Amino acid sequence: MIYLDHNATTPVDPAVAEKMYWFLKEHFGNPSSLYPIGRKVKEILNEARERVGAALGAQRGEIFFTGSGTEADNFAVFGTMSALPERNELVVSAIEHPAVLESAKYLEKRNVKVTYLPVDSYGTVDLYALRDALTPRTALVSVMHASNEIGTIQPIEKIVQIAHGQGVPVHTDAVQTFGKIDLDVRKLGVDLLTVSAHKVYGPKGVGALYIRKGTNIHPYLHGGRQERSLRAGTENTVGIVGFGEAVKVLEERGKKDRPRFEKLADALKRGIEEKVPRVRFNGHPVNRVRTTLNFAFPGLEAEAILLSLATKEIYVSTGSACSEESEEVSHVLTAIGLRPEIARSSIRMSLGRSNSEEDVATVLRELPEIIEKLRKITAFHPTD
Ligand code: PLP
Repeated sequence: MIYLDHNATTPVDPAVAEKMYWFLKEHFGNPSSLYPIGRKVKEILNEARERVGAALGAQRGEIFFTGSGTEADNFAVFGTMSALPERNELVVSAIEHPAVLESAKYLEKRNVKVTYLPVDSYGTVDLYALRDALTPRTALVSVMHASNEIGTIQPIEKIVQIAHGQGVPVHTDAVQTFGKIDLDVRKLGVDLLTVSAHKVYGPKGVGALYIRKGTNIHPYLHGGRQERSLRAGTENTVGIVGFGEAVKVLEERGKKDRPRFEKLADALKRGIEEKVPRVRFNGHPVNRVRTTLNFAFPGLEAEAILLSLATKEIYVSTGSACSEESEEVSHVLTAIGLRPEIARSSIRMSLGRSNSEEDVATVLRELPEIIEKLRKITAFHPTD
């Protein structure tokens, strides 16, 4: 199989699986228990916390484990909004992941004024619109670091500068940049930042929220005193251990591996542009996570391309994994100005550790043939 959907999820690294198995066999204690087997688990979790913190340029005490990237996003949005009850305005970009966008829409129905920042045709947030949106009543600005669908990287430092200038904290969803570009919370200047383990060859069902020391935030989950009383619920201990190990592997191999996938992605992009007539590349040409490739094939339905590729055991996506089952047109592709029929003709390929030069060569052989065949069929049965 050729797996080209690393933005949806990644295979668990063998070292991570091994570490998790070891932990499950050896440690069942509750980290909140005061006797030695509980203490030991707490110590192991704190090693993972240290690793995740160090990889982000944060202190261990600024990392709060959650049940997913989605939960970390919800925590950031609802936690800051409830900590600042005198402020009832929220600013997010129009191309956020549903974890932020749907949280914003939920709040909008409950009397929060939400501004959805527009983006240009490359998917970059309009900074003038951000300036205009900020008021003394703004509680939070949340703009993702890079798009899961088109890979465009946002100018977070500038966004922070503008928002902080008005005394407004900034959250960024860095689920799609962690492990793919250098990340440093201090350089970015953000107050809150989300990551997720399963996008970095770790297990599913565990994420983390970086909360800069001193940030005003309330818990999102209420109950016990876990995660320093900010995220109640017995920790997903084995998941957190796996997350820590995934970050360790990332630290050891990430910098060396990364140029390899980027070169493969560049070769795939070039090849598709050369071999397939009438393709349109969606996303920023430069300020982009290079392993994310999104192409429109005008005149075709993305689903037909996806299914044809799947018969050759080549797995791609029609956009974000979370909206795969819905008929809706991607809100990201709509926001960059694509007509619905062009948006519906777009597929995403995202490369990672499992890919080789051979994979790229195979895709460059199979894809142009599939497109040509589908175009011949749709010429008799036009869809638009
Ligand atoms: N944010 C972005 C940008 C994502 O791509 C994803 C996953 O697709 C998430 C948040 C949600 O993360 P999780 O799957 O851990 O809930």
